[in-house]
Amino acid sequence: MSQAAVKAFGKARAGIAAGRCSCGAVRVEIGVPAFWAWHDHSRASRRAHGAAYATYVGCWRSRVRVAKGEKQLTRFTDAATGDTRAFCARCGTPVLYARARSPKMVNLPRALFDTRTGREPLYHVAVEDAPEWAYRCETLRPLKGYPGVVWTGPKRRRRAAGHMF
Ligand SMILES: [Zn+2]
Repeated sequence: MSQAAVKAFGKARAGIAAGRCSCGAVRVEIGVPAFWAWHDHSRASRRAHGAAYATYVGCWRSRVRVAKGEKQLTRFTDAATGDTRAFCARCGTPVLYARARSPKMVNLPRALFDTRTGREPLYHVAVEDAPEWAYRCETLRPLKGYPGVVWTGPKRRRRAAGHMF
């Protein structure tokens, strides 16, 4: 454990996990353990995060607190679903995701937290919406001449095409 990590660990409050956006303007706290944690493969979350999928910790609304930067949060409600997402207006980090059908719950990106949230993300939602380009735990090997880059080799593309047709 690094010196900084030890210091951060020492400051952690019992029963609370603290998270923050990229720029630090927004800080959130949740009660731990969170209710559950899950990987969201839906198209809506994929777009909102600009990523293959999003991993959330789902919490009771009463156990979520915006500790800093509430005014920095900008909200967007999807007219079709009624789902609301809040993100940091300064750096764009997604912070809160409230689904209309679960009004008592709030979901927060797992990645906001450096510490444990008390739940492993064991569940996958909308996995049928996962794009064909998402990484699916294929074996990776070093790419010659590019230190730090690994790849699946050309095999994956053939397999994906075969799967599609
Ligand atoms: Zn920010």
